[in-house]
Amino acid sequence: MKQLVTEKPGVLSIVDVEIPRLMDPKDVLVKMKAAGICGSDVHIYHGTSPVATYPRVMGHEIVGVIAEIGKDVSAVKVGDKVIVDQIAACGHCYPCKIGRPNICCNLKVRGVHIDGGYREYMVAPEDAMHLLPEGLAFTDAVMIEPMSIAFQSCSRAGISKDDIVFILGAGALGKSLIKAALLTGAEIIVSDVVDQRLEEAQELGVSHVINSQKEDLAGKLKEYTQWGPTVSIDAAGFVGSLPLLMDLTCNAGRVITMAFLDEPSPVQQFKITAKELDIRGSRLQNNKFGEVIAAYNAGKIKIEGAVSHVMPFTDAIEAFKRIDSKDPSIRKIALSFE
Ligand code: MN
Ligand code: ZN
Repeated sequence: MKQLVTEKPGVLSIVDVEIPRLMDPKDVLVKMKAAGICGSDVHIYHGTSPVATYPRVMGHEIVGVIAEIGKDVSAVKVGDKVIVDQIAACGHCYPCKIGRPNICCNLKVRGVHIDGGYREYMVAPEDAMHLLPEGLAFTDAVMIEPMSIAFQSCSRAGISKDDIVFILGAGALGKSLIKAALLTGAEIIVSDVVDQRLEEAQELGVSHVINSQKEDLAGKLKEYTQWGPTVSIDAAGFVGSLPLLMDLTCNAGRVITMAFLDEPSPVQQFKITAKELDIRGSRLQNNKFGEVIAAYNAGKIKIEGAVSHVMPFTDAIEAFKRIDSKDPSIRKIALSFE
């Protein structure tokens, strides 16, 4: 079979290897059908991921069909269409014990710390398999993963219908966050510097949009909210975005960080204390695939329409080059193994 290997930052190659074997009676073999390319994969390719190791088969938005099952597997059968959970946790550390394997002290993320889905076959335990909704195309199903990240963030924020949620950034992550936050019934305000993204946010049903390059962000938020947003989610992640959100958020509010930004942002501790802000990180997702799939099956969220380009897996190197070209028509590329 073929797999795409990031040998080291900037160096991709497609190589021939043996199809992996089941190692455990609870393992299953997945024949890949589609894999999404995420911003974090681009970081791994460029060598700017603070967590990835090399050489690495990237890919954590992994969709396929079960091709073989171990003798103790009962949750899935050959032929089932699945998305593979990106998280492999140890099960015995403190976060694992309190039900938060997404931040396991020995966390291994498929496609980051261990090999992921940019290959024709992969082996993973049955626990990592989530059945796809009926009728959802493989290349659209890759979006279940980014949507699960947004569900996690909303869950960390503890959003209820009385909240006013401010989402900083209306790119791919921001859009998933808007869709997830809308399910809570809360009021949503979004800012970005690109008008086109803000128009799309408006179409999704947010209450207000602010172009922070052309408008006074703090002034507009005051106009729309009286006391400030009760929840702020950082879907932009630049130096200074955290202190900015600490300033904008209402007293007693929650600020959610999602970026893997390595450079420090200066923070005045006084503001956290004086406003009793909760600053909470949101990483990956904790059992959110099932919630996303249930919301889709219930007709509450739309997953289709987010993938802008489908390219054959054999053109994966070309796909990464196209992303580097900054072609504005590229929103999301799904690699297809058909
Ligand atoms: Mn992703
Ligand atoms: Zn653990």
